[in-house]
Amino acid sequence: MLLRPLLSGLCAIACVTATAAPLRPDSPKNCSSCAEWNRPQAPFVLHGKSWFVGTRGLSSVLIDSGEGLVLLDGALPESAPLIAANIETLGFRLDQIRYIAVSHAHYDHVGGVAALARASGATVIASARSADALIAGVPPQDDPQAGFGDKANGFPKLSKVQRVADGETLRLGKLVLTAHYTPGHTAGATTWSWQDCSGGDCVNLVYADSLNAVSDDAYRFGGADGNGGIAESFRASIDRVAKLPCDILVTVHPGFAKFDEKLAQRAQGAKADPFIDASACRRYADSARERLDARLREERAPKP
Ligand SMILES: [Zn+2]
Repeated sequence: MLLRPLLSGLCAIACVTATAAPLRPDSPKNCSSCAEWNRPQAPFVLHGKSWFVGTRGLSSVLIDSGEGLVLLDGALPESAPLIAANIETLGFRLDQIRYIAVSHAHYDHVGGVAALARASGATVIASARSADALIAGVPPQDDPQAGFGDKANGFPKLSKVQRVADGETLRLGKLVLTAHYTPGHTAGATTWSWQDCSGGDCVNLVYADSLNAVSDDAYRFGGADGNGGIAESFRASIDRVAKLPCDILVTVHPGFAKFDEKLAQRAQGAKADPFIDASACRRYADSARERLDARLREERAPKP
C-alpha cells in the first residue's frame, strides 16, 4: 500500500522534469553584425510585470500575465540561451511561457524562437504572412530583402504557428495583448501593444516592429510590376504606430528607442523613469517616415 503513493510522488517529480525540456539551441547564424547584436544584457524591468530579456542589440520582452508568461521575439539562434538565462534570472521557468509572439520573420528576431518554443512548449503566434515564413524557415519572395538569398536569410523552421488577425487580442490572465499589422519592413510585420497596470498605475507599452525601409539592391519600395510598390501601405503602418497609446516604446532593435541612454539615466538615479515617454512612438514614426521618403527619392533619382 505504501508503494503507490511513493510511485506517484516519483512520477510528480518526473512529470515536472519532462515538461521543462532543456534548451537545445539551433546552429548560430554568425552574420556580420550577429556578435555585436548578441552581446549579453542583464534583464531589466520596463514597467510592472513587463521585462526586457533580450540582448544588447536585439529585443525580447517577457510579460507575466499572472496565469503564465508571454514572450515577444527570440532574436538570433545564438541568443536563445541568453534569453532563457535572463528569464531564469527573473525567477521564472521556461515552461511557464504559454505564448511566444513574433514581430517579423527575419533571422535576427525569430532565429531563437524555435529553440525557445521547443524548450518551453509555448504556442508561437504571428500574423498570417509571418506564420507562413516561420513555417518555411525563410522570408517570402516579396520580402524587401529576399534578394540576399535564402541561405543568408534563413532561420530555424517551426512546424506549427497560430495565426493572429489584424486587431486580434490574446487574452491570458490580466494581459490583453493586441496585434497591429504594420507591413512595410516585411509583409507580415506586426506591432504588439498592451497595458501593464501592476503596481497601481496603468502604462501603455508598445512593441513596435521595424519601420525601417531597408532592402536588397533590386527591390523598389515605390516600384511596380511585381517589384515592391508598397510605399502607401508602409506609410499607413508608420502612421498607425504614431497614433498608438504609447507610454513606453520598445523597438525590435533596442538602439532605435535609445535603451542604453535610458538605462544609464536610470542608473544615475533619474527622478522620472526615462523609459516613460509619451512622445516616443510618434518620434520613432517621424524618423521612419523621413527615411522612407529619402529612400523613395533615391529610387526616383536618375541613375548616373
Ligand atoms: Zn528585419
